[in-house]
Amino acid sequence: AVPLVIARSTALSARHGLLIKNRTDFENSRNITTIVFDKTGTLTVGRFEVVRFESLQQGVSRETVLQLAAAVEGSSEHPIATGIISKAQALQLSLPAAANIQAITGKGITGSVDGKQVQVVSPGYATTAFSNAPVVNIQAGETLVYVVVNDTIAGFIALADQIRPESAGAIATLQANHIKTTLLTGDNKVVAESVSKQLGMDSFIAEVLPHQKLDKIKELQQQGEFVAMTGDGINDAPALAQANVGIAIGSGSDIAAETAGIVLVNSNPQDVVNLVLFGKATWRKMM
Ligand code: ADP
Ligand code: MG
Repeated sequence: AVPLVIARSTALSARHGLLIKNRTDFENSRNITTIVFDKTGTLTVGRFEVVRFESLQQGVSRETVLQLAAAVEGSSEHPIATGIISKAQALQLSLPAAANIQAITGKGITGSVDGKQVQVVSPGYATTAFSNAPVVNIQAGETLVYVVVNDTIAGFIALADQIRPESAGAIATLQANHIKTTLLTGDNKVVAESVSKQLGMDSFIAEVLPHQKLDKIKELQQQGEFVAMTGDGINDAPALAQANVGIAIGSGSDIAAETAGIVLVNSNPQDVVNLVLFGKATWRKMM
């Protein structure tokens, strides 16, 4: 009978947009008490568009700010990078060559352009690392990055992503099934709060660095929670491995998909609900 159950659940899972890579994660799904959602790409569409960009330094034009940022983002696959490059292309700005590109994990990216060191970084990092960090009011829903040239903040770029239409319904159904939901993101507090409030989530944690994502999962487990985590990035992999159920989204990085036990083929948060309900139903059938 067991092979039949497995065959049946595999066929059903395909229909629900789930790729089950690890059966333990799937079997664990019926016991989930808390789901930790990474923001970008699961609850949101994961496509950032530049909504405004400004210079904060005399003698540097706002186009230069965008152009330098796009130059160092050229080889990054981060959704922020894609948004910045698209905007520079739409404005037909030429992209100067960049060298020595290095990701600053969870904080940004750096490289050299025309002999200048250019960094594109999070507000949290910028305000601790650079003494001239100005206060830019982040509007609800905005992801903000600072563009730093030779250790001086030269400007900022604000981007916006869209909440997926399916997200609110998915969160509501999880709550109706007594599962708590938490938003965990490296992005700023303003956007984390606005997304979690709009979706009616139980809590949010912003500006977390990759190792802190892992610590947060452990902390919840120590509190007795049985934790599922969704994530898309290389930096989510340790947390996905630690979670009782690791869920990668299909549009994310290969490393996340390799680590997670379950992959959401269509990156749709409704499929997380399917996983939870379907995990319970399959278990009942097996008993
Ligand atoms: P998330 O939790 O949303 O996956 P990340 O850990 O990827 O966040 O990034 C956290 C923050 O670090 C971003 O919101 C951004 O401010 C900054 N950051 C990371 N990578 C880049 C990049 N390539 N360009 C600009 N900023 C970046
Ligand atoms: Mg990410």
